[in-house]
Amino acid sequence: MNIQWYPGHMVKTKRQISESLKLIDVVIELLDARAPISSKNPDIDEIISNKPKIVILNKADLADEKINKEWINFYKSINIVALDVDCITGKNINKIFPSIKNIIKNKLQKDINKGIIGRPVRALVVGIPNVGKSTFINKIANKSTAQTGDRPGVTKSKQWIKVNNEFELMDTPGILWPKFDDEMVALHLAYIKAIKEEILDIVELSIKFIDEIKKSNPNNLKDRFKIEIKDDPTEMLKDIGRKRGCIVAGSEIDMYRAANVLMEEFRIGKLGRISLETPNMIIGVE
Ligand code: GDP
Repeated sequence: MNIQWYPGHMVKTKRQISESLKLIDVVIELLDARAPISSKNPDIDEIISNKPKIVILNKADLADEKINKEWINFYKSINIVALDVDCITGKNINKIFPSIKNIIKNKLQKDINKGIIGRPVRALVVGIPNVGKSTFINKIANKSTAQTGDRPGVTKSKQWIKVNNEFELMDTPGILWPKFDDEMVALHLAYIKAIKEEILDIVELSIKFIDEIKKSNPNNLKDRFKIEIKDDPTEMLKDIGRKRGCIVAGSEIDMYRAANVLMEEFRIGKLGRISLETPNMIIGVE
């Protein structure tokens, strides 16, 4: 999904999410486990104000397991519950509702004290494009689950997806914008294809990628492509092209094809589990 964000669009989205907040008990903030800094909407905490939230580090299957744990501990240290989830195997999907219940246990107890019983906990999923919101909603709702109809007191257009008797999700997730003005963010989002890679020619993008990964994950590049680590990332892209037979006009390396091979293999996890960001890189994110 490619969305062009412009100020009017952002204001409208913000207003829609604020409206939805009145109907829900908890926000489910989806981040990409490989890049929790870059895949975070910069205004989300201001938009949701004091609404309880849970952070889902989605696509955890593609990220480094050890760094996933570091992120969860980081969030814990700032009193935010985070879970590493992957919608392919369903890892930790079953922990989401119990965690949410625990986060809002005081409110649930107050409701019980007031005699409000049997009302389902309602959640809104939010996140930037391509972070996996639709896949997540389908996974958590087990796909076959029917939508519940409109109910009195609920805006007509809102549909609720029943997860179980106690838990419902708003069927349309909140789609939010990423940070636009930070080079690292733009690059990381382009690597994971959360934004159109046309911000940069794919050859340029893959050279930047190699330059970054050869420092953080040199063995992934070495093992996957059987190449050596070199000072010049352009030379390394050429080596990848050579190894993969990306040749044009007899002997020249097809850099465009080599770049596509590299980025595609990273994106589907064939380069191994790679995290682009660690909690140490955080500067004023929360
Ligand atoms: P949305 O734009 O936020 O609704 O994102 P989508 O649900 O359309 O997902 C974007 C892409 O990410 C799709 O190709 C999904 O198959 C993929 N995806 C979603 N969740 C996961 C996950 O946990 N692991 C992996 N490997 N891919 C995922």
